[in-house]
Amino acid sequence: MTRAQIKHVQRGLHSRIPICCIAYFVTTYFPKWAAYRKGDIKAARYIRRHVRRNHATAKRLGHKRPPGYVPCPACVRAGNIIHVHMCTLRCRGKLGTELGHGP
Ligand SMILES: [Zn+2]
Ligand SMILES: [Zn+2]
Repeated sequence: MTRAQIKHVQRGLHSRIPICCIAYFVTTYFPKWAAYRKGDIKAARYIRRHVRRNHATAKRLGHKRPPGYVPCPACVRAGNIIHVHMCTLRCRGKLGTELGHGP
C-alpha cells in the first residue's frame, strides 16, 4: 500500500466506515475513478453506475444526503450504508492536521 492509501484507510476507520468499504475504495473504486478522470469510458460507466446505486440505496434507507463515503457493492446490496462520523476540532490531535470527514 502507498502512503496515500494508508491515509485513506486511517481516515476511513476514524470515520467509522466499514473495513470492507475502505478496502473496496482503495483497491477498486479509487483506481477506477483515476482511470475515469483520464477519460476511460468503461471506468466512467462503472463509477456512474456505482454512484447511482449508492445514492438510490441511501435514499431508500432514509438518508437525507448521499453517503459521505463510498460503500462497497456488498454493503449497497445489503442496504448497509452508515452515517459517517463527522469530525470535530477535537479529532485533530488523533489524525494529525487532517480531519477524517468535515461537517
Ligand atoms: Zn462494505
Ligand atoms: Zn473525527
